[in-house]
Amino acid sequence: MNPGERGERWRDWRWQLVNRISRVEHLPLHYEEREALIPVAARYPVSITPYYASLIRWDDPADPIARQCVPSQDEVAFRLPDSTPDPLAEQRYSPLPGLVHRYPDRVLLLASAVCPVLCRHCNRKRTWRRPEALLGSKEWRRALDYIRRERGVREVILSGGDPLMLPLSRLSRILEALRAIPHVEVVRIGTRVPVTLPMRVTPELCSVLEGARPLWINTHFNHPREVTREAEEACDSLVTRGIPVSNHTVLLKGVNDDQEVLLTLFRRLQAISVRPYYLFQCDSALGTDHFRVPLPEGISMMEGMWGRTGGLTLPRFVVDLPGGKGKVSAERAHCLSLSGEEALFMNFEGETVRYRW
Ligand SMILES: *Cc1c(COP(=O)(O)O)cnc(C)c1O
Ligand code: SF4
Repeated sequence: MNPGERGERWRDWRWQLVNRISRVEHLPLHYEEREALIPVAARYPVSITPYYASLIRWDDPADPIARQCVPSQDEVAFRLPDSTPDPLAEQRYSPLPGLVHRYPDRVLLLASAVCPVLCRHCNRKRTWRRPEALLGSKEWRRALDYIRRERGVREVILSGGDPLMLPLSRLSRILEALRAIPHVEVVRIGTRVPVTLPMRVTPELCSVLEGARPLWINTHFNHPREVTREAEEACDSLVTRGIPVSNHTVLLKGVNDDQEVLLTLFRRLQAISVRPYYLFQCDSALGTDHFRVPLPEGISMMEGMWGRTGGLTLPRFVVDLPGGKGKVSAERAHCLSLSGEEALFMNFEGETVRYRW
């Protein structure tokens, strides 16, 4: 089907959700391949919207879109020694279920247990069958009370699951409650909806989000082929309502572990007014080890881009340290040495330059 033939239903996000691929039996794979994936899916379920599935080139066994959403044997068969179900120790840093408070000035709320597409590299795949999200109104009340008490919290990040999967009336009430807390200066929503279900970004949703400004959307594009006309329209509707959109990419083997792919992605994002924010080293989450790229590769790819492309296309390359030790920048410093009155820098052409003040 080409987009013209897809018609109204295709653009209806509810239709997209109802018609999700949620059984390996429904994947267009050979019988033996599907059979082999049944036990994988029993452990880590499948969900792919028809829209996201339409981006896959099924005749390519190494398709980067398929790799992100079609289960793989490696999820259960390949394991590196340091991987754990909860690599960032989110449970340890949860004073209440569904609320992660790791940094002094910001808290993360697991606002929803649902994602339109279940990403095979998800670092919260432990929660897919056992949600840790804030599900009932009692839990939400307790989370909001906690934030009201913690005066140091200036930013609340709704994460998940995908917060934009919440019923609109509920999302609206949550955003209003957060806005009413004087010390909460800003809300951030982490969502993959612009990538996996862009038709969810309706005018009604945009109105709710606009009413909760200052609000930032941080989304999750990993490959230039995800930057479609539909995705662009979704981001554009947010930006034109005054909602800045930024992006984190996860560095994934077989998806985007290539400097040209990353450069194309970051440039396309800037061209649709989406600011590349972080490039994450893939966390040591159990079931995702086959995606891990050696750290030096990420560092040199980012170094290779510096100076070649504008600063607004370049995210920071970040490792979220195991055990909840926090995020760190994984870039080599351009500043080679520093003394009381001079510094030595390495510029983007590899030249050493002295700077005095
Ligand atoms: C990543 C993360 C944040 C947000 O950190 P930023 O550097 O502001 O993007 C907040 N809380 C937790 C627990 C996180 O893992
Ligand atoms: S959208 Fe985010 S939370 Fe949902 S499955 Fe993908 S990576 Fe995990």
